[in-house]
Amino acid sequence: MRVYNFSAGPAVLPEEVLKQAAAEMLDYQGTGMSVMEMSHRSKPYQKIIDEAEADLRKLLNIPENYKVLFLQGGAHTQFSMVPMNLMPHGVADYIITGVWAKKAWKEAQMYGQANAIASSADRNFSYIPDCSDLPISENADYVYICENNTIYGTKFKQLPNTKGKMLVSDVSSCFLSEPMDVTKYGYVYGGVQKNIGPAGVVIGIMRDDLITESCYPNTPTMLRYKTYADNGSMYNTPPCYNIYICGKVFKWLLDQGGLEVMKQRNEEKAKILYDYLDSSKLFVGTVEKKDRSLMNVTFVTGSDELNAKFVAEADAAGFKNLKGHRSVGGMRASIYNAMPKAGVESLVSFMEDFEKKNG
Ligand SMILES: *Cc1c(COP(=O)(O)O)cnc(C)c1O
Repeated sequence: MRVYNFSAGPAVLPEEVLKQAAAEMLDYQGTGMSVMEMSHRSKPYQKIIDEAEADLRKLLNIPENYKVLFLQGGAHTQFSMVPMNLMPHGVADYIITGVWAKKAWKEAQMYGQANAIASSADRNFSYIPDCSDLPISENADYVYICENNTIYGTKFKQLPNTKGKMLVSDVSSCFLSEPMDVTKYGYVYGGVQKNIGPAGVVIGIMRDDLITESCYPNTPTMLRYKTYADNGSMYNTPPCYNIYICGKVFKWLLDQGGLEVMKQRNEEKAKILYDYLDSSKLFVGTVEKKDRSLMNVTFVTGSDELNAKFVAEADAAGFKNLKGHRSVGGMRASIYNAMPKAGVESLVSFMEDFEKKNG
């Protein structure tokens, strides 16, 4: 039996995609082998990765002058690849809205001067700071944000005013949840295990003039974007099977009607949960309303004991992985693209019931 899985990542995937993958497991389209067993230099595999890229370009309207890169090493590896490749003058500005932005900022300090120009640490990252007039460094190579803060449940509804500097964004947990204007960024990337596919792939989308030879001294070959750009993301063996599943998810998204449709559905789903939180006398949302994420919904009751009781009872009833991140406690429901509306509605009825008994 399938459960409602509210995990922040690795997370729920569309059932149709999993069924297709299962059907093709032993014999991928008459090749007599699984995609897992196939050479990445083979024709069928080249078709898989080419189609994945073409479908992603369609979904996001990616212009010609942006490269799509299938990278490895998780989002964490991007925390170093970004400064190693994109900081030729050795200066960058970071906006600190949570654990992931902070980790990226700390990592960048190993390669140059990384300035924290804004932060919401004062209220445990429960909001997005005003980014309309920040002290952007004159010689900054880029401004860095984490666009959707998976752990805290906040999202930039408006991109920061970078005063002409190039914007770099980690969109791991909001990737493909709604349309995105790629031209607003120099580089945008996301680990796929939140909203797209199995862990092990990071998708990067980079303006092509930023892909150069000039990197931090002795940057390893595998940590240069140019290596991926020049070799169709196959300088070495890529995570073949994971890219294949991502490709299936792109096709699924196109079949659903694309990202405008996903956005509508995601808004509808999030509203069901947020409206209930706003009316409940037991549960409260933990972030400022204007900054609420559509993907990660964080909330608490009045006590740690009741939080724990809720998580345990929900788990027993088939609502899995609702425990908040260890750094914030409470609860978090991640309601990515593949979470059906019925899952959110059932969760809310369960919460109403819990409130009646424990309120
Ligand atoms: C999960 C997550 C990360 C870390 O991803 P890894 O693939 O585990 O390195 C980084 N940034 C964001 C926004 C995330 O949600």
